[in-house]
Amino acid sequence: MAAQVAILSGPGIGHLFPCSELARRLVRHHNLSVSLITQSLGPPSDTELSLISSIREEINVVSIPPPPPHSIPQNKNLIFLLLFLSAHNGPHLHTILNSLTANTSTPPLKALLVDMFCDEATLDITQELGVRHYMFFTSGCILLSFALHLTKLDETYDGEYTDILEPIRLPGYSQSFYGKDFPQPVVERKNEVYTSYLSLSKLYYKTRGILVNSTEELEPELINFMKEDERIPPVYPIGPLIRSCSRDRGSDATDDQCLRWLEEQPNRTVLYVSFGSGGTLTREQMKELAWGLELSKQRFLWVVKRPNDEADASYFGGEINVSSFNFLPNGFLDRTKGLGLVVFAWAPQLQMLGHAAIGGFLTHCGWNSILESISNGVPMIAWPLFAEQKMNAVMLEEDVKVAVRAKVDDTGLVRKEEIVRLIKCLMEDEQGRKMRDRVSLIGLKAAHSVEEGGSSFRSMKAVVSEWINL
Ligand code: UDP
Repeated sequence: MAAQVAILSGPGIGHLFPCSELARRLVRHHNLSVSLITQSLGPPSDTELSLISSIREEINVVSIPPPPPHSIPQNKNLIFLLLFLSAHNGPHLHTILNSLTANTSTPPLKALLVDMFCDEATLDITQELGVRHYMFFTSGCILLSFALHLTKLDETYDGEYTDILEPIRLPGYSQSFYGKDFPQPVVERKNEVYTSYLSLSKLYYKTRGILVNSTEELEPELINFMKEDERIPPVYPIGPLIRSCSRDRGSDATDDQCLRWLEEQPNRTVLYVSFGSGGTLTREQMKELAWGLELSKQRFLWVVKRPNDEADASYFGGEINVSSFNFLPNGFLDRTKGLGLVVFAWAPQLQMLGHAAIGGFLTHCGWNSILESISNGVPMIAWPLFAEQKMNAVMLEEDVKVAVRAKVDDTGLVRKEEIVRLIKCLMEDEQGRKMRDRVSLIGLKAAHSVEEGGSSFRSMKAVVSEWINL
């Protein structure tokens, strides 16, 4: 092995999955030695532990211990906590990198790839140790280009972005956005989260290169633009990186139940409903969704978590399991028996999206879920909840045209009538059929791009030879 790189994964399964997949591919296809540094706010979940143990043979995994509970701020804002963790773990990172560089029995450490939520300290540490600083952006180019453009937006507009009535364009992108669809960290400009995110976005200009989990097949305009802008560090689209292990937690009863049930359903008839590892619905919204599913009379498989008033309540684990479904409308489970399956908290998403029975995906538009859906040729109902998901949803519906977006009413709810409309559109109408054809085509091209000779594979090869030749 010619060289070693270290990857600092952000906390949460949505970061650990793509970071571990990147590590695996660098080892298997590019003959690098890789250390994967993981972090979490609390004890890692079973899924995280199982993933880590499944890659230990090939990858040197170093886990930073979670901070002592009393040191964790009470602030529940997701971005605030992510940035807190990054700052808190700086000294640990320093120690780990120091020992990796000092170890003469492993190939020399050439680069640190930091996940998208990191702070300036990571840059200082790499400079001190003579290691190159790169970024691995686990979301799409849309969020990346938004972040790169944020300083300009900050200088151009006063007041809240949500109050701007005209559509706003990102440089190099024909699709426009309204302020209400901007990512969560920028919704309140007086909030310290905004200030931190603004500084973070400036750091993106200082790194040596940005690897992004996307592909020219999905975001060609943005990629071309970023590659041509000389102020932006080199951008390497290397995705879609979708985890290659088929089972995340070994054999689990729920996994088997889901897959057995799907086996009994006709092809392309089941709507898969899931809000990712982090997303949660309020009690009232949960009821509307249940009614919508029931009234639609379509087959569905719904991964249910305990209702919560915060949309990202299960991001760091937390109480997502439920002992009864008493928050669903009375009699819902009986009335939908045979037509729908409801499971607790977690389903084998990747295997399910690849199953012939799945005809559509109602998703919160987390970036991994989007890539997994597209790669499996599954059209979507876009129901964004937090982070950058609203922008992702706009892109999926209006630019890529593989999703239909859920409309919220004046009270912030997606009502049952709207849910019935969305499901019908996706599963029965001509529009749904067109979206399916389109997503199948893009999915095939995207899958090809990470294979030898494909554009993402070549991009990865280019950055790897840069490291080797350092
Ligand atoms: N996932 C899964 N089963 C579930 C929920 C999520 O396997 O029941 C996986 C999903 O396949 C994806 C990741 O968890 O790889 C979620 O990442 P995403 O970016 O979509 O959303 P996040 O969970 O970070 O909000």
